Amino acid sequence: MVKLVVTFLGTSAAAPTAHRGLPAVAIRREGEVVLMDCGEGVQRRVLSESLGLGGDMTVLITHLHGDHVTGLLGLLQTMSLAQRRKPLNLVGPEKLLKWLEVTAELLHVGLTFPIRFSSARPGVVLRTGAFRIRAARAAHSIEAFSYVVEELGRPGVFYPEKAKSLGVPEGKLWSRLQKGRQVTVAGKRIEPSRVTGPPRPGRKIGYSGDTRPSGRLARFFSSSDLLIFDSTFKDSERDKAVERKHSTSLEAAELAKKAKARQLVLTHFSARYTSVSGLVREARRVFPNTIAASDGLSIEVAYPEIAAR
Ligand SMILES: [Zn+2]
Ligand SMILES: [Zn+2]
Repeated sequence: MVKLVVTFLGTSAAAPTAHRGLPAVAIRREGEVVLMDCGEGVQRRVLSESLGLGGDMTVLITHLHGDHVTGLLGLLQTMSLAQRRKPLNLVGPEKLLKWLEVTAELLHVGLTFPIRFSSARPGVVLRTGAFRIRAARAAHSIEAFSYVVEELGRPGVFYPEKAKSLGVPEGKLWSRLQKGRQVTVAGKRIEPSRVTGPPRPGRKIGYSGDTRPSGRLARFFSSSDLLIFDSTFKDSERDKAVERKHSTSLEAAELAKKAKARQLVLTHFSARYTSVSGLVREARRVFPNTIAASDGLSIEVAYPEIAAR
């Protein structure tokens, strides 16, 4: 099984604490990294988690509040000092590119690699080697997006007996069929669908960024294997969540339930909570498979059919 690992680099809300850095989450699959939000100092966390500065990377920015974006310039600068050459995919609100261009110019930051920018909008925003990335509008105090990072579908289960009965010799040709590719045996073309089951869905990670819950997001995150959701406040402070356009842990749990997510991870905690166990307890009453993110936490996401066993 190809490993898919989600690592939390920063889990605080706007004010960091001694134990929580500003928001950033990394998804890693084989050589590819998707980084969601770039809180200040993110490049140190990228180094300490060995995510690499020169590899295939896509950065998704949810919105232009400082806590989610100020780390981006530092990350790009560190990559340039490391002589990165590969293009970097960047997705975010339209004004992100303007902010980057202005600050990079004022600070005389020259990049050693190109940036491929895609402006976030509802729908599919990018396809990478391993993932399809979709965005939806979040409900925050400024323009903001939520993202779903979905692993590209896998070919179906391979049935060796069927391959044998069609005269396909074991070895290279089997492996081609397993990867969903056609083969030719004794001049006859054999489609992979004749020896495999139906294609299986890939794993799906949802990331809310800062937002109020909404029906639209519940639909957007439907059947996520892992849902990472704004949990700035405890439900007793819902009035603050409403006013500042964030969610409470209970609201995050209600949304995860509606979306039929497999696991919920609460994050973006207000600095007022020295312990977040109360927030987790509250969420678990509605959605039992809930945990709290913490800086450095890594979660390996299993394929849905394996997790269901
Ligand atoms: Zn925030
Ligand atoms: Zn915000």
